[in-house]
Amino acid sequence: MNILVTGGAGYIGSHTCVALLEAGHQVTVIDNLCNSNADVLTRVQALTGRSLRFVHGDIRSRDDLARAFAGGIGAVIHFAALKAVGESCAQPLAYFDNNISGTIMLMQAMQAAGVERLVFSSSATVYGQPDHVPVKEDAPLRVTNPYGRTKLVMEDLIRDWCASRPELSAVLLRYFNPVGAHPSGQIGEDPRGIPNNLMPYIAQVASGQRERLHVFGNDYPTPDGTGIRDYLHVMDLADAHVKALDYATTHTGCEAFNLGTGQGHSVLELVRAFEHASGRKIPCTITQRRPGDVAEIWANPARAMQVLGWAAQYDLAAMCADTWRWQRDNPTGYA
Ligand code: NAD
Ligand code: UDP
Repeated sequence: MNILVTGGAGYIGSHTCVALLEAGHQVTVIDNLCNSNADVLTRVQALTGRSLRFVHGDIRSRDDLARAFAGGIGAVIHFAALKAVGESCAQPLAYFDNNISGTIMLMQAMQAAGVERLVFSSSATVYGQPDHVPVKEDAPLRVTNPYGRTKLVMEDLIRDWCASRPELSAVLLRYFNPVGAHPSGQIGEDPRGIPNNLMPYIAQVASGQRERLHVFGNDYPTPDGTGIRDYLHVMDLADAHVKALDYATTHTGCEAFNLGTGQGHSVLELVRAFEHASGRKIPCTITQRRPGDVAEIWANPARAMQVLGWAAQYDLAAMCADTWRWQRDNPTGYA
């Protein structure tokens, strides 16, 4: 099948392109490169020995989408979005426009092209502060920032669209904390500026680009006082998209799945695991809690196992080792 991957030059999209090509699919990527570099697609093709089609374009442009859909598309995997929580608080309208308007334009283009299957990047952020952990898919949805709201609205829009015709199929994948890199060290996460997320920040401390990690609070009601998250290897996440696509091809309707390992790890556990993987010391300073952070959240991924036949394979040591290989071999990312 020819799969249109929106945002396919990004972190998760590029790893998913590798998995799709290895599974025998044809791939068309549309990306405006607002948070990525086209070099990644050269590396994806070198890694797989397969070529893909790249449309340099914006999902909010009808013309760009028409170019992407030309040539026959069987399904869409939709990654393209802005994703920085802090930025979304400062510029909510840019997030509403890019994420929500972009998704509406994409669904219109799918309808015009007669494409009936969609796999969507959602996020554990739709659960906000959960009442219970591990979190199941039927937990209350409550968001705490404009980025999260765009994810929730996009889920609702996709669900409504899917309900409008019986032949439509959509899979909403709620990622917990994607980390890691391709084990080759050829592709990985390449954040612009100061990383917001823990793993890329630690990696830059290990490589000497940043002096120390600021641990955002050690007074949470957790065993070591630091925040707990469900870190998930990006290779496992990529594999989940291939399985979700298979599911969307054989089923109709709209379904949501948690993607996580089902295990939580604290900030300090991650620091220790990274020190072990890299052989480097990660100096840490405890600072204030980051506003809006939850103390702990991890997934119950049982539904993804039962319905998609997917379960995470990589452990925390592999996540750290693969992140370190990518960071060590590409200290300036794709630049
Ligand atoms: P990323 O920024 O690396 O990738 C997103 C890609 O989309 C980038 O290449 C960017 O250039 C492109 N893009 C953005 N707006 C576009 C537009 N209007 N038209 C065309 N291309 C556009 O981010 P990522 O980490 O790979 O995340 C992918 C998806 O997963 C996003 O939807 C994100 O919200 C979601 N997600 C990410 C995480 C995470 O921690 N990385 C967690 C949960 C959900
Ligand atoms: N964190 C931290 N220092 C950093 C970045 C993150 O202590 O520089 C903590 C954060 O408070 C949270 C955990 O690491 O407990 C994961 O944060 P991240 O931003 O990676 O994921 P999210 O909070 O969005 O789940």
